[in-house]
Amino acid sequence: MKLETPFNVEALRKDFPILNREVNGKPLVYFDNAATSQTPQQVIDCIVDYYSNYNANIHRGVHTLSQEATDKYEAARLKIQKHFNANKSHEIIFTSGTTHGINLVANGFSSLLNKGDEIIVSALEHHSNIVPWQMLCERTGAILKVIPMNEDGELVISEYDKLLSNNTRLVFVNHISNALGTINPIEAIIEKAHQIGAAVLIDGAQACPHIKPDVQALDVDFYVASAHKMCGPTGVGILYGKEAWLNKLPPYQGGGEMIAEVTFEKTTYADLPHKFEAGTPNICGGIAFGAAIDYMNQVGFNAIADYEHDLLEYATKKLLEIEGLKIYGTSKHKTSVISFNIAGIHPYDIGTILDKMGIAVRTGHHCAQPIMDFFKIPGTVRASFAFYNTKAEIDALVEGVKKATNMLL
Ligand SMILES: *Cc1c(COP(=O)(O)O)cnc(C)c1O
Repeated sequence: MKLETPFNVEALRKDFPILNREVNGKPLVYFDNAATSQTPQQVIDCIVDYYSNYNANIHRGVHTLSQEATDKYEAARLKIQKHFNANKSHEIIFTSGTTHGINLVANGFSSLLNKGDEIIVSALEHHSNIVPWQMLCERTGAILKVIPMNEDGELVISEYDKLLSNNTRLVFVNHISNALGTINPIEAIIEKAHQIGAAVLIDGAQACPHIKPDVQALDVDFYVASAHKMCGPTGVGILYGKEAWLNKLPPYQGGGEMIAEVTFEKTTYADLPHKFEAGTPNICGGIAFGAAIDYMNQVGFNAIADYEHDLLEYATKKLLEIEGLKIYGTSKHKTSVISFNIAGIHPYDIGTILDKMGIAVRTGHHCAQPIMDFFKIPGTVRASFAFYNTKAEIDALVEGVKKATNMLL
């Protein structure tokens, strides 16, 4: 990678071997970045290096390979701590991803909630941020309340104000909606929750590919993310939690690594972060997550935001020139995600034809059925752009959608 100003997308694209491949005889146009991002050579090299040179189990070994793997894994934790600006490295818990992090917190709150306590979620949530709370409510008798959204796909904060009460214990909102790209006003959401003493978990899965969150400045209680949406591998992510909260929550899973002492009468738990890291973790994944964070910081989050904003404006304008095309999620505050439909055509049919042209988009409800219900549609076509996409690729998408429309109408 060689960084230049202005943003040199052609140079960056060389870091991603997959962008050279063809699909159905056409150059790949990858616009499914909100589902998973592509992996730069630097991260691939890190994975190859791990399995080629120091693959070993961590923490328990006296031998050299185990020490090397432990050092690199813990160095990755420090990198992640610095990236998210956590106060302490043991406030960073390695997880298998966002879903795991949310479930860990939801499970922990089982013993802290009483019947009649209230949990607030938002209408813009991913299923992974709805179902664990429904399960928590079933276990505890707590009540789930939902912040509604408006036609632009924005949360209605005046309604949130009305939902907050002395019974509110927890608020769970995503930082950025995966289905619509809306950037939620999480600063205000967190502040208002804290005024009445509720804790806040932010789902950052969709935000971390675009911005660098500062958990201390946000004063957020919990923040979760997945590596695979930010140039890292699948199967690894983090839960950030304030130390006081992590000490209060009981462990999620029992097993090796998470204990201090075990007898059949009683087990005492290990200190943070190990209390929440039972069993052999995704060691290589954690180390590669660190490499992905290094890579993204080298590209630079300000440069990424500016460039992606440009792509979003360009694509929005071009797509809206197509007759019958409607975009869902029209907030001024959004990232490079465009969810759309063409009147009279099922999104799946458009996606299938685009694939024939080598263009990868997502179709369906995007794990956010309540949003689709709001708009009274079965789903959308979603094109999500990353910093390695180009305007020429957007032109190919626009041409593809036009062709599909002509074939299907
Ligand atoms: C992708 C995503 C998730 C789920 O992440 P996993 O890596 O599948 O656990 C949760 N929330 C949002 C907003 C997402 O975009």
